[in-house]
Amino acid sequence: MTLEPKTLVKLVKESLKIKGIDFEREINSFGQIDAVKRRIEGKRFKIQEHIKGLVYSFLSSQRVWKKLVPHLNKIDCIFYFYTPEKLINADPEKLIEKIREIKCGNRSIGRQIRALSSNIKILKKYNSVIEMKISEIYKYHNNDIIKSQNIVEDLVNQLTNPKSDCKLKQMGNALIMEYFKNIGVRSMKPDTHLLRICGMKRLGILESVEDENTNKLNLLMKAQKEFIGFVIKISENVPIDVIYYDNLFWLFGAKGYGEICSKDPNCKYCLISNHCNYMG
Ligand code: SF4
Repeated sequence: MTLEPKTLVKLVKESLKIKGIDFEREINSFGQIDAVKRRIEGKRFKIQEHIKGLVYSFLSSQRVWKKLVPHLNKIDCIFYFYTPEKLINADPEKLIEKIREIKCGNRSIGRQIRALSSNIKILKKYNSVIEMKISEIYKYHNNDIIKSQNIVEDLVNQLTNPKSDCKLKQMGNALIMEYFKNIGVRSMKPDTHLLRICGMKRLGILESVEDENTNKLNLLMKAQKEFIGFVIKISENVPIDVIYYDNLFWLFGAKGYGEICSKDPNCKYCLISNHCNYMG
């Protein structure tokens, strides 16, 4: 990749525009930038917002998000607007049935919803610890991005490590990071799509990423730090723009949105093709 980061981003935006994608509107509609702004203002997130973030993260797994968007109000209703007591006592089989009725399930939906009650109990028990850790991340976000990233890593580790008391069920590293973005933690979600687009086989932003299917925490965190390094080169507002560029590159590939740098890329719509490492 020989392009300057600013030029690369400009071309991604122009490619999306050519496909008629209003990326600013789409990014705003995801609400993740708004969540980071609230964190920067020092706001804390309620337990309902944590549960909503976790449920959205579950539902986004192996699903085309665009197809879920028209159903989000119904989903909020099915999950009792994320009231913890109601969900802890709810019959998971009925919730699964209702989600399947509106065709918003996925291959893991049964396991995910059966794990919900236990996950909510953990979130309730550890809510103040999680919130305190997140506020620590924001203490460092301007002057020591790597230090704050180490706190993110520590928190991901605690929530995913089978030996930890606060391990969340059915949540791997990438889903935890999606949940984090939903509750305003400034982090990129290093999932298969982002790793594929930004890794060495395509745009070459993430030099450590050869294998887009990795789920190892140390490699994902390395990718995150590289992504933040990329954002630092083009932004004066890094905490917000980490999410902004995460969302932008995701739109560039996502089904129902850009569908340009997707698994089988549509390089004919891409203005970066002369500078990309993709070999076909
Ligand atoms: S793989 Fe194709 S669509 Fe993706 S960045 Fe490269 S040229 Fe563009």
